[in-house]
Amino acid sequence: MPHHFDFLVLGGGSAGYASARTAREFCDRVAIVDGSGELGGLCILQGCMPSKTLIYSTEVLHLARQGEKFGLRIPRAEIDMDALQARKRHWVADFADYRREQLESDRFTLYRQHGRFIGPQEIELEDGTRIQADRIMVATGSVVNSPPLPGLADVPAWTSDDILGLESVPESVLVLGGGIIASELGQFLARAGSRVTLIQRGDHILREAGEPAARVVEETFRNEGMEVFTGTGIQGVEETPRGIRVAFSHEGNTVVREAAHLLNALGRRPNTSSLNLSAAGLETGSRGHLLHNGWQQTNQPGIYTGGDCAGPVELVHIAIRQGETAARHAFGQNPSPLRYDALMTVVFTDPQVAWVGLREDEALARNLDPLVEEYPFADHGKSLLMEAPRGYVKVIADRASGKIVGAECVGKDASELIHALTVPVAHGLTPAQCMEADWYHPTLAEIWTYPLEDLAEALATG
Ligand SMILES: Cc1cc2nc3c(=O)[nH]c(=O)nc-3n(C[C@H](O)[C@H](O)[C@H](O)COP(=O)(O)OP(=O)(O)OC[C@H]3O[C@@H](n4cnc5c(N)ncnc54)[C@H](O)[C@@H]3O)c2cc1C
Repeated sequence: MPHHFDFLVLGGGSAGYASARTAREFCDRVAIVDGSGELGGLCILQGCMPSKTLIYSTEVLHLARQGEKFGLRIPRAEIDMDALQARKRHWVADFADYRREQLESDRFTLYRQHGRFIGPQEIELEDGTRIQADRIMVATGSVVNSPPLPGLADVPAWTSDDILGLESVPESVLVLGGGIIASELGQFLARAGSRVTLIQRGDHILREAGEPAARVVEETFRNEGMEVFTGTGIQGVEETPRGIRVAFSHEGNTVVREAAHLLNALGRRPNTSSLNLSAAGLETGSRGHLLHNGWQQTNQPGIYTGGDCAGPVELVHIAIRQGETAARHAFGQNPSPLRYDALMTVVFTDPQVAWVGLREDEALARNLDPLVEEYPFADHGKSLLMEAPRGYVKVIADRASGKIVGAECVGKDASELIHALTVPVAHGLTPAQCMEADWYHPTLAEIWTYPLEDLAEALATG
């Protein structure tokens, strides 16, 4: 006899756990199926938390090496990879323990196996156990993507997992890709002491961030000694006695670079290939994401999805929100459908890049009349005394409604600063309303008052 549940979650990561926890508010019988060797999910084990732990260490190292700028004599600042990894392992274990305790609590029935569909509302586990559920949530995450580049499949290539587990500093690394993970980990390696060459197909790194932001980061990378090639086409990847060689087109020439290692940071794809989706009649889109509506409901009304396998983005706060929305909808709670007009994204390079809502070109594409004001950190007192003059803040308002529709920040601690504008964008506040609040002096955050004041004035004078 199959086991039966009110709600079953396939995958106990950020999206899956959020949906299971929420479903428990509305029913008693919730099952979680997770077949990973270690419980915790990508964010905790091999994603956000380990990467930001390591990146922060190299940011401190970088600052220590700039000691003289701050009037400090720091004779030796160097990396200790053993200590760095021990620190990372400590925090990852701490966060994973907490998640494991939650998943193993008696609020859920946890199955530590992989599952696959054998019918629209039925899953089979590796040991043959069959589980039926009235509502199913698919949250199986993503895996590293390896596009069919000539030779790539035949060479040993590192993924982000390998970088996060490095026990020593590699002498040199070729980074394929210029997205968020490529940029964050590329700079981490360079600051740790590797010779890094980043090879990006598009005209700029960090495509989603827009060109002005990308330019600031590219310039910083080059100043720190990284080699950055954009607008390239990979012609071949091969293994050599000294490591890996990549040939690529660049500005009309063929360029060849060789390094001890290659990092494949060409993106991730939804992890759904072993789920036997056809048994449940589930449909996927062109990039392999499970098709779903604003409440995360797939084309099968009793099956929901969230997180990296659902898309459209691979971000933890969205995975959580999708999981919660799915569970609420599954139990008739009538949640608001998810919209991405106020989406926030952060890149943990240094300077950091963060944006929320619409960029100017996106506002134009929606037939809005964007009014844009920006201000550079190079003219801001607090950033100058912190020796952090790179970057800018930018605010975009819609002339007709007067509302703020987007904001962007490139600079020190942009990941924190952007939060000053997330509520205004989400709730369509006007610049004048934002200026009614206090902005403490001297802080990095008060830099927002310059574009906000300019916009308020421009909107008032029409
Ligand atoms: C290096 C790196 C850095 C990142 N940094 C950030 C960041 O700073 N901020 C941010 O917002 N995002 C970041 N991300 C992305 C973020 O980690 C993911 O978007 C998020 O963790 C995805 O959560 P999820 O629930 O969709 O999947 P996961 O957390 O991967 O959970 C999926 C679970 O499903 C299990 N599973 C898979 N198949 C089956 C099956 N058939 N049966 C049972 N179980 C199964 C898996 O074992 C896994 O435990 C980063 C990612 C990487 C790789």
